[in-house]
Amino acid sequence: MKIREIWAKSILSKSQIYAYAVNPYVGCSHACRYCYAAFMKRFTGHKERWGEFLDVKINAPELLAREIARRRTGRVWVSGVCDPYQPLERKYKLTRRCLEILMENGWPMTVQTKSPLVLRDIEILVKSRDAEVGFTITTAEERIRRLFEPSAPPIPERLGALEVLHSRGIKTFAMIAPMLPGAAGLVGALAGKVDHVLVDRLNYHYADRIYRENGMEWAKEEPFFLQEAEELKKGFEGQGIAVQVLF
Ligand code: SF4
Repeated sequence: MKIREIWAKSILSKSQIYAYAVNPYVGCSHACRYCYAAFMKRFTGHKERWGEFLDVKINAPELLAREIARRRTGRVWVSGVCDPYQPLERKYKLTRRCLEILMENGWPMTVQTKSPLVLRDIEILVKSRDAEVGFTITTAEERIRRLFEPSAPPIPERLGALEVLHSRGIKTFAMIAPMLPGAAGLVGALAGKVDHVLVDRLNYHYADRIYRENGMEWAKEEPFFLQEAEELKKGFEGQGIAVQVLF
């Protein structure tokens, strides 16, 4: 893993999903095989494989404090093209300091992660005027998770973190994207832990080799996504949990 500390020029970027996005890191050591953020390499000039480099924007909090003073208030997505709670966040605390700044200034935020490390910052989230936390969970089966997300935290840890956040009154959601085999099992697993659920299909080809080598090419075809989405929708709606299918 090649790690570099860098001085970023800016940190609050425009986002198509929310008003803004903040990415304190370039790269992601969770190294998910299907990761859409791997496209970043084209712009950053990294030669290493996705998941094997990390640029740490050590001035992210200072930049954020300066930039939000000049911008109109809007929801900030933390993060978008990296996991804000990947392992080195334990050491650098950049996400933590960015959340503190957003909280102190009353900016709304949506944190999206796969890591229970977010629980370290639960008091900041509780104090925020409008904070929500989403966990990306693509399957209920650990066997499948290990194939596609070998370096990301196990599913039971993510479910446990969602439960804690939800019990503290923080708005929570699950992003089931891309749906992998075994996603339907999440209906029971997420019950009572989330306010809403988002579902999407696989939209990129980075993980084609994993599907092929494991005889799972059927799981990247249209019929699988349609059937799985239908099952998830029915299941969550049956529990009174709002579901948005994004395709
Ligand atoms: S956690 Fe998210 S950003 Fe990180 S590698 Fe996985 S999909 Fe990509």
